[in-house]
Amino acid sequence: MVNMGLKILLLFVIVLICLFPILYDPKPSKPQPRPRQKRQSYAWKGPKTDERINRMLAECIELMKELEVPISDSICPIVRLNGSRSRFASCYDRGGRKAYTEYDFYIEMSGHILQNTEKSLRSVLLHELLHTMPEGYDHRGEWKKWAKYVSEKTGYTIKRCEGDETEEDLARFFGTYVENQSE
Ligand SMILES: [Zn+2]
Repeated sequence: MVNMGLKILLLFVIVLICLFPILYDPKPSKPQPRPRQKRQSYAWKGPKTDERINRMLAECIELMKELEVPISDSICPIVRLNGSRSRFASCYDRGGRKAYTEYDFYIEMSGHILQNTEKSLRSVLLHELLHTMPEGYDHRGEWKKWAKYVSEKTGYTIKRCEGDETEEDLARFFGTYVENQSE
């Protein structure tokens, strides 16, 4: 009888050993997906436009006309906001990718720069307005000539890349700004 009991116990242990890999699998059968590198999202969930920016645009248009800069007479008075972290703003013509406006030109601005200094925002808008000139689509020739002229007349910095942004402005734009910085 004892012998029989031992045999049953042995059989039970063997069965348990055989079942072990099924019951306990330390390695997951599927390879775990690698943690993806976070991509900077350009999605913009903020407001589509900003009254203050639109007012600044109207004032910048006035300024350009006072200086007799040959900007277009058909510029959308509403600046559209987007989530860009690579461009402060862009100027599109009606034939461009989004025909949402009746006007010949419209300006989009990154919502991430709404907190920039007013000087920086106005220099960005003046930069974009120069793109509405005939032959003003790139940063050479006419654009460069008038950018220099407007900069000299107004004190804004209108260049191809850098404008009147502060270090804080840039940090906010690139998403590296830390609130309550000690400096
Ligand atoms: Zn430009």
